[in-house]
Amino acid sequence: MKTLRFVLGDQLSRSLSALRDVEMSQDVVLMVEAQEETTYVRHHRQKIALVLSAMRHFAESLRAEGLRVDYVRLDDAGNSGSFTGELGRALSRHLVDRIVVTEPGEWRVWDFMRTWETAFGIPVEIREDDRFLCSRGEFTAWATGRRGLRMEFFYRQMRRQTGWLMNGDQPAGCRWNYDAENRKALPPHLALPPRQRFVPDAITREVMTRVEQRFGDHFGDLDSFGWAATREEAIEALRHFITNGLPWFGDYQDAMKSGEDWLFHAALSPYLNIGLLLPVEVCEAALNAYQQGSAPLSAVEGFLRQILGWREYVRGIYWLRMPAYAQTNFFNAHRPLPAFYWTGETAMKCLRETIEATRRNAYAHHIQRLMITGNFALLAGIAPAQVEEWYLCVYADAFEWVELPNTHGMALHADGGLLGSKPYVASGAYIHRMSDYCTGCAYDPKIKRGPKACPFNYLYWHFLMVHEARLASNPRMALPYRTLAGMTADHRQAIRQEAMAFLNRLDRPSP
Ligand SMILES: Cc1cc2nc3c(=O)[nH]c(=O)nc-3n(C[C@H](O)[C@H](O)[C@H](O)COP(=O)(O)OP(=O)(O)OC[C@H]3O[C@@H](n4cnc5c(N)ncnc54)[C@H](O)[C@@H]3O)c2cc1C
Ligand code: SF4
Repeated sequence: MKTLRFVLGDQLSRSLSALRDVEMSQDVVLMVEAQEETTYVRHHRQKIALVLSAMRHFAESLRAEGLRVDYVRLDDAGNSGSFTGELGRALSRHLVDRIVVTEPGEWRVWDFMRTWETAFGIPVEIREDDRFLCSRGEFTAWATGRRGLRMEFFYRQMRRQTGWLMNGDQPAGCRWNYDAENRKALPPHLALPPRQRFVPDAITREVMTRVEQRFGDHFGDLDSFGWAATREEAIEALRHFITNGLPWFGDYQDAMKSGEDWLFHAALSPYLNIGLLLPVEVCEAALNAYQQGSAPLSAVEGFLRQILGWREYVRGIYWLRMPAYAQTNFFNAHRPLPAFYWTGETAMKCLRETIEATRRNAYAHHIQRLMITGNFALLAGIAPAQVEEWYLCVYADAFEWVELPNTHGMALHADGGLLGSKPYVASGAYIHRMSDYCTGCAYDPKIKRGPKACPFNYLYWHFLMVHEARLASNPRMALPYRTLAGMTADHRQAIRQEAMAFLNRLDRPSP
């Protein structure tokens, strides 16, 4: 049976289910650069360059194997600009009996993929994306009948299922969680691993030129592009992390430092999300390092928790709850996204550092995303949809299945607590403890009111006051609400005024 196998830009894995039984002699692999996909949000220029370059390299590797690849470039004459349009055109070029695809990562694509069989009058087989460690069906089975869907319990089930870091039914080291050890601030003189930068080859350089011409007005620097664009390079990036980052990953997972964009983080998420690396091999590489004694249990558990736990869990939540999930707005937040999220022009150094790193690299590490840009957006009451669009644009690893639950659920608590048992909000004291950002900032984290006061301080208490009815009964919020209860009415009123004055001038140029 002659088959057209349609491979999407985040499905660049040779083991992809849609490619598994490919018949070299007769099948055609279709790959499409679609304008619609590059512009449904205004992606960071490095993100577009990464995906297009990785797609072109992947197509070359399939051709080198002897497969027949029909590759449509963005600028090819007649390119209709959409997956559906290009599939229609491909069917007029190739006489095939059926189409085979792997289920997409995003609801948006899933929605139109399901129309193809009727639209084209040809069988369309949509196969499971089994690159994940938990299938959509398995997640639904886990979630069914549970009162709460906490990640911790899902993660423990996944540990038991895989047997990773397990002694029989018990976790290695007799503990499931090393988070308490994994929250150290960075000692001032600790040497950090250099970023591994991959010099763009001819294919990537050609893509970068086209991206510059076509998407020159999108956010983000392009010249500093240093991402891996092939599987071989991504494997090299994995090895680099296992040797130079993993042993310290746990200790400094939550640390932040001015001018240091990568710390001990893996910077592997773009490769995982477009398929150059598989989660199973990344986890196994970390487990091997533990078995060989080159990384401690706390670091390896912390890392495994991110991939086997969080990554699989947010995907499960996305497919379980979409499309309604994206519509909730628990705090009824409606303020527009401040312009400085795009320009970085703000006197708040923590935000400036995070946004500038984002512009340079299409990357910020987790705690910057959660406790700097996310924390601020939550405290300031920015509309979830606008914050989500920003996150979807600016990170090289941003695909809706993983971006949305992290932003909507974890950072903004807009789902009312499905993902997190309490909102991730913090005042300037937390940022001061976990970073060196406050040194050299126009504000002072120790000052609570007045022109030098850190805005995170009064915004934090203001947020708690505004949402008291929603949050005060949450046992995990008991401590801050006890402190709030001890404040005089005058003090509360002063905080309210200060916060409102700040919020009202949010979109004016910074002092
Ligand atoms: C508001 C917000 C938005 C986010 N948007 C995205 C996104 O669009 N795409 C994305 O891949 N991650 C997203 N994350 C999760 C996380 O921040 C990134 O996966 C991580 O920063 C990627 O960098 P790294 O590879 O250096 O990760 P490391 O810190 O080294 O972690 C290792 C790996 O674990 C996985 N991981 C860690 N945390 C998470 C998580 N919370 N959810 C899913 N996977 C996780 C990633 O695959 C990552 O490569 C977001 C987090 C927040 C708070
Ligand atoms: S003082 Fe406040 S605004 Fe400035 S860097 Fe510290 S936490 Fe951020």
